[in-house]
Amino acid sequence: MKKTVNNPKLLGKSNKAVILKTLYSLGPMSRKALAEECKLTKAGVSMIIKNMLEDQTVLEKGKAESTGRGQKETLIDINYEKFLAASVNIESDKLHFALCRLDNIKKKLVCDTSILYSGSPIARIRKRINEVIKGYEDKILGLGIGVAGYVDERAGIVKTSYGLFKENFELKKELEKFYDFKIVVTNNVKAQAMALIDDDNTNFLYIKHSPGLGCSVVENSIVLDGVNQTAGELGHIIIEPEGELCRCGKKGCLEAYIAENRIINHYYQNKYEVLDIKEIYDLYQKDKVVTCKLNDCIQKLSLAVSNASALIDPKKIVVMGGIFNNENLYRKFKSELKKLYTDKKVARVDNDEKIKSIAGGRLILKRHLFEVR
Ligand SMILES: [Zn+2]
Repeated sequence: MKKTVNNPKLLGKSNKAVILKTLYSLGPMSRKALAEECKLTKAGVSMIIKNMLEDQTVLEKGKAESTGRGQKETLIDINYEKFLAASVNIESDKLHFALCRLDNIKKKLVCDTSILYSGSPIARIRKRINEVIKGYEDKILGLGIGVAGYVDERAGIVKTSYGLFKENFELKKELEKFYDFKIVVTNNVKAQAMALIDDDNTNFLYIKHSPGLGCSVVENSIVLDGVNQTAGELGHIIIEPEGELCRCGKKGCLEAYIAENRIINHYYQNKYEVLDIKEIYDLYQKDKVVTCKLNDCIQKLSLAVSNASALIDPKKIVVMGGIFNNENLYRKFKSELKKLYTDKKVARVDNDEKIKSIAGGRLILKRHLFEVR
């Protein structure tokens, strides 16, 4: 049954959000097609579009291809240029800064994490933020920051980031001294999971390898939080009681066995030769020590992912980075999952750099335009 939205009092933000989400997923559409797609009346859609044209949320963009003898319909699209957000991704190797639209990146900048370790980290982060937003300062809707580690998003505090910031660092509060726009500080993996949500990805388990193991659970397009905002910490499930000491302080965590620095250390201890992680991955199925260690990593990882999948029942398992970037290892991971009776679709994100650049900014824009969490 079609919802009736002809009454102006009923023109809530939700219908606006539904229309914007549809335009974002399917591209420019006529009012008629939008009404059909959103299951709203044409008169209702026309009224909402009129309001959105007035406040420049959407714009008219040419005419639809003619399907018959009737008049060609005007296409409506999101006014992407109106909605801009700044994005920062902070991980143990690199920092990504960007100025984002919902559909693309306007400007980006990548730098080494070493900038956090000398002088004031806030001054150095601000310098890069200012560089990417230069000329658009008045148009920015907000700044989204994803930080590796345990982040209390509600308070904007980076509780633990394994040396990136001091413990309980009030990142949001520090930056709010300098910017008037909305600032969200969250965990990097959660921000990336949010960036990956679209029409095809609404229920999935997101697994990010390198240098640690991040995971996030997305159900019905919502990134699960948990009571302490630590839902999805697959890297810190115990796989060996009293096992290897993890950087989180616990013993026997999955991450303590499969983190990239553990793989590098293992190679060094056996071969006394320092290789970077990509060189080690390339030795898979060529060098005995490497193959044995990486097979062990894949087995531990696939077992954990398989168990998580049984618990959560996602539609897909989306993986990114590290061990998954090597074709042979990715294939091995998928075949191990099958052996463990996990027949979920596995999809790999091939553009790590892009996801890291847009994550925080896209989180701000999606929450603003689509009214999602
Ligand atoms: Zn741990």
